[in-house]
Amino acid sequence: MMENVASVTVTRGTSLREALSILDRTGAGLLLLVDTNGVLERTLTDGDLRRLILAGNSLDDTLQPTPQIHSHVLSEGSSRRDALDLMNEKGINHLPVIDANGKVVAILDRKEIDQQILLSTPHMGDAERAYVEEAFRTNWIAPLGPNVDAFEREFAAKVGVKHAAALSSGTAAIHLGLRLLDVGAGDRVFCSTLTFAASANPIVYQGAEPVFIDSDDMSWNMSPAALERAFDTARAEGWMPKAVIIVNLYGQSADMDPLLALCEKFDVPVLEDAAESLGATYKGRPSGSFGRMGAYSFNGNKIITTSGGGMLVSNDGKLIERARFFSTQARDPAPHYEHTEIGYNYRMSNILAGVGRGQLMVLDERVKARRAVFAAYRDAFHDVAERITWMPEPDWSYSTHWLTVCTLAPDAGITSAELMRRLAGEMIEARPLWKPMHLQPVFRHCRYFTDGTESVADRLFAQGLCLPSGSNMNTAQIERILSAIRNILH
Ligand SMILES: *Cc1c(COP(=O)(O)O)cnc(C)c1O
Repeated sequence: MMENVASVTVTRGTSLREALSILDRTGAGLLLLVDTNGVLERTLTDGDLRRLILAGNSLDDTLQPTPQIHSHVLSEGSSRRDALDLMNEKGINHLPVIDANGKVVAILDRKEIDQQILLSTPHMGDAERAYVEEAFRTNWIAPLGPNVDAFEREFAAKVGVKHAAALSSGTAAIHLGLRLLDVGAGDRVFCSTLTFAASANPIVYQGAEPVFIDSDDMSWNMSPAALERAFDTARAEGWMPKAVIIVNLYGQSADMDPLLALCEKFDVPVLEDAAESLGATYKGRPSGSFGRMGAYSFNGNKIITTSGGGMLVSNDGKLIERARFFSTQARDPAPHYEHTEIGYNYRMSNILAGVGRGQLMVLDERVKARRAVFAAYRDAFHDVAERITWMPEPDWSYSTHWLTVCTLAPDAGITSAELMRRLAGEMIEARPLWKPMHLQPVFRHCRYFTDGTESVADRLFAQGLCLPSGSNMNTAQIERILSAIRNILH
């Protein structure tokens, strides 16, 4: 809210001198001319007052001769988006809000309302720039260089694995992981259904076929019971998947112990998609460090970012050496360009690795901040716990809450889609959960296994919502989101 409404309210009996002095004093850029009942007649700007003087009125005359015009106003209850649309359409920066009786209850200022809150935005620290500048100073711009080596070393230490290869994206890391596991044409790969398409697309790059596995209620990640059903079915039909991609969603690890036990029993290697779970732990151990390999992402919306990038990790040094080989066009050791295998251009540049090194230094702070955002939501809506359910955090999990995610109960009085639409009107970005892969048109022909009861992923998708979760949101922005949700719910 800008100026107090009363302080900029005038009547036709007010003198021009007084009107000018209010404009001068308040810096509001706008006066509210009301009738004897306090109902808004029109707004006045300094231009309107100037025209009265040019028409021969003196400073001691009143506003009586002010012409009647229709001023732009907004009705109470309109959204922030409505207000901004009207301001844009009319080319104005201030807009009175009137109640049902025509009385002004507020004046909106474009500077204050033209602020979109996004789901998750990049959050730079203090050290990134120095690493990037060092790369410029030494002209180590591309392709590889000391930042890449150091980032790999520092990252591996952070997630508790022996080896890491810095790549151009998380998708590239998953793709190379599958290639290194010899996934090829005709093979099948189990993959969590509730995830982003980038978990599953690389299966198809390799000419293999995804088979999707449902989530469980406890972690929203891959259900051990559904995985077991898939394995049992495969064995009964005489085939085995070549690999299992276990996704750790929204900052939380999957329930690794029972999932790994099944994969060991059937002797199938695990590739962890930890794109969303960097900084999380499972039973105290870093998420992404459990599978034969783990893939991370530094895309712009993730908990730390290199603007775009990824990392493939493993305790098997040979695998990571091969990953580096394939990611740089599979060049055999020879003075000329010699190739016995098909490679890719998947390596991370020395500049971006510099950003990554700086971001890694603030990872723990980012985790704390994201958890604090989640705690603010949880505490604010404690009283409506039967309407809003947060993504559960089992006692074996330390989630980063990369995104704060919830579901709305069927009898919550509002659907997640409606809540999302209303928040968009307040210029607050919320999003649905990932649409499960088995529901995607491109994967519709693929097989899908639940635990035999219901499809948990379908239900989560239908009822779920991701709320703004950026580590760089300030308390005013968080408060704005909380009060918008509160208003919409009540
Ligand atoms: C972001 C993401 C990826 C892909 O990472 P990119 O770096 O964008 O290629 C893969 N899987 C999941 C679950 C993701 O969220």
